[in-house]
Amino acid sequence: MAAQTVASTTDPAAASPAGAASVDLGPAAALSCRECGHRVPLGPVFACEECFGPLEIAYDFSALDTEELRKRIEAGPANIWRYAPLLPVPADVASKPNLNPGWTALVKADNLARELGVTGGLYVKDDSGNPTHSFKDRVVAQALEAARAFGFTTLSCSSTGNLAGAVGAAAARAGFRSCVFIPHDLEQGKVVMAAVYGGELVGIEGNYDDVNRFCSELIGDPVGEGWGFVNVNLRPYYAEGSKTLAYEICEQLGWRLPDQIVVPIASGSQLTKIDKGLRELIELGLVEDRPYKIFGAQAEGCSPVSAAYKAGHEVVRPQKPNTIAKSLAIGNPADGPYVLDIARRTGGAVEDVTDEQVVDAIKLLARTEGIFAETAGGVTVGVTKKLIDGGVLDPALTTVVLNTGDGLKTLDAVAGTGLTATIRPNLESFREAGLA
Ligand SMILES: *Cc1c(COP(=O)(O)O)cnc(C)c1O
Ligand SMILES: [Zn+2]
Repeated sequence: MAAQTVASTTDPAAASPAGAASVDLGPAAALSCRECGHRVPLGPVFACEECFGPLEIAYDFSALDTEELRKRIEAGPANIWRYAPLLPVPADVASKPNLNPGWTALVKADNLARELGVTGGLYVKDDSGNPTHSFKDRVVAQALEAARAFGFTTLSCSSTGNLAGAVGAAAARAGFRSCVFIPHDLEQGKVVMAAVYGGELVGIEGNYDDVNRFCSELIGDPVGEGWGFVNVNLRPYYAEGSKTLAYEICEQLGWRLPDQIVVPIASGSQLTKIDKGLRELIELGLVEDRPYKIFGAQAEGCSPVSAAYKAGHEVVRPQKPNTIAKSLAIGNPADGPYVLDIARRTGGAVEDVTDEQVVDAIKLLARTEGIFAETAGGVTVGVTKKLIDGGVLDPALTTVVLNTGDGLKTLDAVAGTGLTATIRPNLESFREAGLA
């Protein structure tokens, strides 16, 4: 197997040529630079040697027949592996030990639609239904396959919280060691959720951007040899996992593109890959070629992309995050410029909401649809409301809003919510409380 042939390769730069011939990652053909198009063989590298631009997966889909592919997908398992022919994973991926995330509910949110005045159909793609209760299981599952292919034995990452849990769980299932790094002051729910799988969990005194910088240093050091950092040296593979959100939304709509989709932004990777996934479906003929708009959502306390969008800038000026939406608190988002591109090209927008609006939106979604979102879901729902109120998002069009995480991990955000009354266990007391 490929894993053995490159197991001794620890220098990421040297690994790609050596590993190229033997790495089986399905339809993934090469890595290609997003900026200059320079191609290199598949390997644990993430930056272009020519221009330092980000590398992404280039595929060979030429053998795929549209109708056969559609049938194969529909007959596939109820998880992301139904899309294995479109992902950088070996064909037998579904038989390997992993968490099998995905195929989460696309909830027709009629009650929320009524509150927001949406008439064209409103859906919540509820990714809190994944194994570790966030969308991160999708991306980690891809990185895990890359780690197997490149012979890594430790899974690692820098995380704003959800990724830590997803990596810990995936490593546990697949028999990898895990060592993950988080800002030391994350929500308790996220810390416990990351620690419980038994891997090493290291709190860094600093914010996410400090954690990320530290991980880059670790990769360059002998200490990090044999380590697959899912969102650093395995980032091109990891990022592809977000395409499955686009695939699922379209398939669940009956192989139709949504008109509008509202996506949260941390590094911006998810948003850019949702766009990539939608374009692939069009190119493969699985959906009709017609316009769609992608909207990005941030919290005001960490809104570098939204600020750049509003200022008409093409570059993103870093910010120091200060928001309850900690899973989105990346002040220097790597894919920020691409997000700006996509929002502008598709006719979407990038908007932000205050922490107070995030909390209101969490409660609104819970009250109307019975979905308890984490703060990131409050951000997307809050931004959706703001964009509708501002006349930017068209309420007459089919709209999908992402909820990417579970409210149980960010209980503090709604800490003011609690008992309606405390009574003695008798009817008189119940009546006195005014509840009868
Ligand atoms: C990581 C994360 C995102 C998106 O992250 P990107 O870095 O933009 O891909 C969205 N929601 C939640 C809950 C997350 O944990
Ligand atoms: Zn390049």
